[in-house]
Amino acid sequence: MSDLLLEPAYGKKLKCLAGDCPENCCMEWIIDIDDETAAYYRTVQGEFGDELRKWMRVDGRKLGDTSTIAEQESGAEPCGEAPQAAQAASAPDGRDVLDDSGLFTGTSCTTFALNGTNCPFLQEDGLCRLRLTLGYEHTSETCREHPYNTEEYEGFAERSPSVSCPEVVRLVFETPVNGSGTTAAEDTKNYAGTAQSAITAVTSFTDAQLNPALTSSNAVKPSVQTYPDAPTNADDAVLNILARTRNSLLSAEAFDESLPLDAHIIDLIRRVSLLQPIINDEAPEYAFEFSDDIADQLISGFEEYRTADETPLLITLQDFCLFLRENLSILTDRWKHELEEVQTCAFDMEGVSGGAGMPGMAGFPAGKMLAGTGKESEVSSYRWDAEPEKKYPSFGAYLDAHRTVLSRLYAYYVYRYFLKAVNDCETPVWAGFIACGAFVPAFLSYANGTPLMKTAAWYSREIEHDSDNAEKILAYFRANLSTDWEDFT
Ligand code: SF4
Repeated sequence: MSDLLLEPAYGKKLKCLAGDCPENCCMEWIIDIDDETAAYYRTVQGEFGDELRKWMRVDGRKLGDTSTIAEQESGAEPCGEAPQAAQAASAPDGRDVLDDSGLFTGTSCTTFALNGTNCPFLQEDGLCRLRLTLGYEHTSETCREHPYNTEEYEGFAERSPSVSCPEVVRLVFETPVNGSGTTAAEDTKNYAGTAQSAITAVTSFTDAQLNPALTSSNAVKPSVQTYPDAPTNADDAVLNILARTRNSLLSAEAFDESLPLDAHIIDLIRRVSLLQPIINDEAPEYAFEFSDDIADQLISGFEEYRTADETPLLITLQDFCLFLRENLSILTDRWKHELEEVQTCAFDMEGVSGGAGMPGMAGFPAGKMLAGTGKESEVSSYRWDAEPEKKYPSFGAYLDAHRTVLSRLYAYYVYRYFLKAVNDCETPVWAGFIACGAFVPAFLSYANGTPLMKTAAWYSREIEHDSDNAEKILAYFRANLSTDWEDFT
C-alpha cells in the first residue's frame, strides 16, 4: 500500500444503512472469501462452523466434493462433508485446480453459495449473522471493503466508495464537486506520516493547455474541493499528465455543475483530443490514434441534437442499451427489464420523424409522455423510492432538469476512471467509459421513468462491479473510436 491514500470528501461520511438499506449489497452477489478468511472458517467449531462450511464453495463445488466436472454438469448432487474430511479430500481444496484431464486450470476461488438470491448469512432485519457471531474482523475482505474500492498508482492510492450502494449515490448526488465544507487536506490520509511532496511539472505543457477552461482570470486555487488532487510528481510522465488533467477537470475553478451532461461530455472529448497526442509522444509504444475527425463527429453529434434533431443520439443510446443487453452478463432481472423497456421505445421510434417541438420523440408511447417542467430539480428531492420520473418533452429537457446531479455523477466517474488510462494510454476509450457511467443511467431514467438513483446504482452494480462487463464496454470504445464512429454520421 502506498504511503499516501486519497479519498473523496463523501467517502468519510458514508454510514452503511444496514437494515434500512433499500438494496442490500448482501443480495444477488456471490461473495468471494479470501484465502485467510476461508482458512479461518475451516477451523470454526460448533454448529456455526458447520453452517459456514455448508455454504462454502470452492470453484462452485461444495467442500469435500470429489465428483468429476462431468458428473457435476450431469446434475449429480455433491454431498457436503465435515471440515476434517474436506481437508483430506483431493478435490477441491488447494490453490491449484486441475480439470478432469489433469490440466491446470488456474487458482481456486472460494465463495459462499447464495441462499435463493441472498447471502446465506443475511438476516431478515438486514444485518449480517456472520458478523454478529464472529465479529467484523472475521468477515471476508470483500465484505470489509465493500463498497470501497482502492486503486494503486505510483506513489499514492485512491480509495472511494461505489455508487452501487444506494447511500453512496445519495452522497454523490448531494455533495457539490466544488466544495463540501472539508478541505482537500482533510480528505487526505497519510499513513506514513510524510507530507505530500511538492508537485512538480514534468512536461512543458501548462495546466491551461490541458484545461482550456482555466484562464489566468479564474485560476484561483480553492480551499475546498470534494475530490482531492492527485500528486503529479511520479516518475511516470503519463501518470503526471493524466493527474494534472484530472485535477484541473475537477477543480473548483473549472468544474461547473450548472452545465448539462452533454456539455461536460463535449468538454471531455475536446480535452482527450488535446491530450492523446501528448500522451502518444510520451509513450509511442502505446500510441492510440484518436483523430480530430472522430472528435469533431462526436462533438457535432452532441451539438446537433441540441440544435436540430435528437433522433440520432437517442437511437445511438438505444442501440447501446441493446449492446449491453446482448453482450454483457446480466446480474438481475430488473436490469434486464430496464434495458428491454428501452428497446420497446427504440422499436416504436423506427421510421418516425420527430413531431413538432419534440424532435425524435413521436415514437414514445403516448401514455408515458407527460409534459416535463424543465425546471431544475432540487437535489434533496432525489430518493430511492421516488415516484416514477415525469417524462420530459425531450432528452435535452431531462438533462437540463437533472444537470446538477448528473454533473456530480459524471465527476464521480471522472475521478474513478480517468487515471486508469495510465495502464493503456487510451484516454478516449476511458472517456467513453466515463461518459457511459452518467449517460446510460440518465437515458434509462428518461426513457423508462425509473428514478435516477436506481439506474445509477444498477449500472454500477452491473458494470463497475463486473470486470468482464467493464472490459467489454472498453473494447466497444476501443473498436469504435480508433476507426470511426458511424452511429453519429
Ligand atoms: S448497499 Fe451500502 S448501505 Fe446497503 S447494506 Fe451495502 S454498504 Fe450498507
